[in-house]
Amino acid sequence: MVSQHHPEWTADPSEVDGAAATFARLPRLPEVGRVGTAVLGVPLESGASRRPGARFGPAAVRAASRLLRADDPQPGVQPWPPQPAADAGDIAAPDAERVSAAAGQVLDRAERLIAIGGDHTIVSPLLRAMHQRHGPLALIHFDAHLDTWDTAMATRHTHGVPFRPAIEAGLLDRYCSAHVGSRGSRYDTPELSEDRELGYPTVSAEDIARDGVDRAIDRLRERVGALPIYLSIDIDVLDPAHAPGTASPEPGGLTTRELQLLLRGLGDLPIVGADIIEVSPAHDHAGLTALAAANTGYELLALFARIPR
Ligand code: MN
Ligand code: MN
Repeated sequence: MVSQHHPEWTADPSEVDGAAATFARLPRLPEVGRVGTAVLGVPLESGASRRPGARFGPAAVRAASRLLRADDPQPGVQPWPPQPAADAGDIAAPDAERVSAAAGQVLDRAERLIAIGGDHTIVSPLLRAMHQRHGPLALIHFDAHLDTWDTAMATRHTHGVPFRPAIEAGLLDRYCSAHVGSRGSRYDTPELSEDRELGYPTVSAEDIARDGVDRAIDRLRERVGALPIYLSIDIDVLDPAHAPGTASPEPGGLTTRELQLLLRGLGDLPIVGADIIEVSPAHDHAGLTALAAANTGYELLALFARIPR
């Protein structure tokens, strides 16, 4: 008798539990064929400096997403159908090369990708796959942190660095990109001036609190131009009251509602992909962070359903 200690040798897990956890109970990508949007789990964490655990993000976000329903209260918006959407599963034993390759394979079958991390190091291989399809991208980077250090802790392989190498490699157009939600203490003053030299501006958490969401949306829309847009959403852009389960929480952040409204304000722009990263379930309370991330995924599906084809 063949040993069944390895799950890959047994039946499809969906046949075992009868209700496989896909994002928002969407079908699995192989069951559907071509889709508008695919959700891809990237359980890779290779650069967390403190409070690790983001590699368990995809499973927690999928579990929280089971509450999501297919009819959006925004007038005229249905995230799926009519936009076919599916869950592509998790990348097995991920490293940077495999993340890039898997994202490319998913993009063969999906017009747009939503990746669920994982820590912020996964954005580098995701941007490589995106750039292969679309050329240079405009980035809207939702994050308490700038993530544009040259090195951190004497290495480039941390979750505080990913965007500088992406700019240097030409994956991102620095003149069409922006940070959103930045705040918090820094190691030193040059951190800020070095980020400014890269050339993309910040719509800070304080700007949003003082000037409002609509002004922030106007600034972002002016900034991105006509390039294909990639959204990178570090869940720590939210205040720890809304998303405590993350590696680097910073008080003074956005509410979940502000993030929802910001995303809705980007409707009809040519967004080609997004990630939601840094959900760390072991540091979460009452599943708040996973729930916020799941609903952020829902907003993205709704947003993508509104983009003209
Ligand atoms: Mn961050
Ligand atoms: Mn980050």
